[in-house]
Amino acid sequence: MKNKDTIIYEAHGNLYLNITNRCTADCVFCIKRYSDGVYGYNLRLSKEPTLPEIIKELSGQELSKYKEVVFTGLGEPLVRLDVVLEISKWLKIRGIPVRLDTIGHAKLLYPERNVAMELAESGIKVVSISLNAHDASTYNQLCDPRYIRAYEKMLEFATDVSGSGMELRFTVVELPVVDIEKCKKIAMDHDADFKVRSYSASS
Ligand code: SF4
Repeated sequence: MKNKDTIIYEAHGNLYLNITNRCTADCVFCIKRYSDGVYGYNLRLSKEPTLPEIIKELSGQELSKYKEVVFTGLGEPLVRLDVVLEISKWLKIRGIPVRLDTIGHAKLLYPERNVAMELAESGIKVVSISLNAHDASTYNQLCDPRYIRAYEKMLEFATDVSGSGMELRFTVVELPVVDIEKCKKIAMDHDADFKVRSYSASS
């Protein structure tokens, strides 16, 4: 595995951004528990990259060759909401499609802000939320969220995402305790795409 402090990495024709290792959950299936990264990239950060550092890295890339730029990595991007918004605006000006992968605790992190609207206005096209479970108790068991009512607030944020005109996607990790059919129904009820990930590909 390469040196740590990877901010940008590529796979599947996409360019991925790793801007933090912090998170508002502690999922039992998180890659952080058993690896330093994915696809041969070490995503451990000795310090979080600043906005200028991230823009500098992006500027060195031929962005048009990628399908999309994705906020993901070994942490929850929305703990750095303002950095996400600035990078998204920078990419929007350049016509690059942007996706955000999130655990969806935005309404708990920023109760005073309309995060979904801010994301949409910054140019984000797709928000992929880790649904992870068919009910709150299973969610709490799997994800150990920092907040109470995290599952309900995540679903509320998902509704905000759809209402803001962005494309919504729900993901779940294939685990025996997860009722995939019920999760699929929740996705349908929220007009969301639905993706089941294998345990090994989870981050
Ligand atoms: S899997 Fe994602 S949401 Fe869960 S602890 Fe890891 S980084 Fe956070």
